[in-house]
Amino acid sequence: MKVKLSQRVQMVHESVTLKMNALAQDLIQQGQDLVNLTAGEPDFPVHELVKQAVIQAVHDNKSKYTLAVGVLELREAVARKTNLQQTSLAIPWTAKDVIITNGGKQALFNSFLAVLNPGDQVLIPSPYWTSYPEMVKLAGGEPVIVRTKSEFGFKLTPEQLSEAFLAFPRARVLVLNSPNNPTGAVYSKHEYQNLARILQTQAPADFLVISDEIYDGIVFKPFQFCSFLQAVPEWVNQTITINGLSKSAAMTGWRVGWSVAPLALTQAMAKIQGQSTSGINALAQAAAIKALSLPECEFIPQLESYQRRAELSAKILSEAKGLTLIRPQGAFYHFINCQAYLLPQETISEFCERMLKDALVALVPGDAFGEKTYARLSITVPEDQLAKACSRLVTVLKRKAA
Ligand code: PMP
Ligand code: GLU
Repeated sequence: MKVKLSQRVQMVHESVTLKMNALAQDLIQQGQDLVNLTAGEPDFPVHELVKQAVIQAVHDNKSKYTLAVGVLELREAVARKTNLQQTSLAIPWTAKDVIITNGGKQALFNSFLAVLNPGDQVLIPSPYWTSYPEMVKLAGGEPVIVRTKSEFGFKLTPEQLSEAFLAFPRARVLVLNSPNNPTGAVYSKHEYQNLARILQTQAPADFLVISDEIYDGIVFKPFQFCSFLQAVPEWVNQTITINGLSKSAAMTGWRVGWSVAPLALTQAMAKIQGQSTSGINALAQAAAIKALSLPECEFIPQLESYQRRAELSAKILSEAKGLTLIRPQGAFYHFINCQAYLLPQETISEFCERMLKDALVALVPGDAFGEKTYARLSITVPEDQLAKACSRLVTVLKRKAA
């Protein structure tokens, strides 16, 4: 090809989660009896009232551009939802602090583009969602991976954060993600407050926290969701909260996410969105208003189903004694250490390919999340499918051990 590609695009990797999902879907279409546990995508249908809202919006001719930041009614609904989760803030959020984005992804991307300058470092605790480092690179920053430990539940400790500040003096942003994709770790108020003590003493004055809370609705008993700013309200002027409807309302394809941030940051991100994608699809915004008006109890059956699936799959997988599995506290994944079952020299990608071929189960290799011996399994298929997939994996793994 004669056209030269930008250095920017050559620097980033393709999204492995999306790639593996596409590959699995392709094989299923070709007739393979495959169980696809790759995508971080709820299998539940969208709520009936949300469907009706979008049909109504079509009839009401909601077919025009909206404001680039999203329609007022939706931004007000997002501000209300966020205020309920951040009751310790002295001044509640209003619509002017909110931007409606194409999924949580665009809210994250806007954030990095709005604050990073060349050479700025972004602290990303690993295991991390696969797109963070690549987005940081696209925005001209430098991702710095801070590896958390399984013995601490894959949570960043104050000691690690402190060491990171000493080792990376150009750190300007910390990305937090609770409940976490891929580990399911959920930070408590106390854990956030411990991290905040280090932020107060060691972070530069212009430091920013990006708190990705997109799995807020999926937390298993007895754990509880805590928004970062609920625990640490004094960081209100230096935090962007990211959220959306993809996971909690099972609306991945509708592409509704948002950022909530102080006005100056919101205005900067709005400028970027206004010059790139504009406002998101007007019909999806009408649907989102309805989704946000539904009481939480409407989503309890989904939550209970994830909890049952998490337990069921853990029970079956525990038959393969070499697998190490930490029970997720939230989100909808198992992040499994497969080290004991790797063949000599086998990489985790090759292991996942072998599972695809021999067990007919599609997983995502953990190196996409920063861990070379782990694989991620999404519990986003019905229980019978999940049980089938886990039993198949156990059979293949035990065969190797025999
Ligand atoms: N953050 C995390 C941790 C995720 O897992 C995802 C899933 N894609 C996103 C953000 C982006 O979500 P969306 O599909 O709403 O863009
Ligand atoms: N967040 C989901 C996942 O991790 C969806 C795919 C993506 O956007 O990466 O699988």
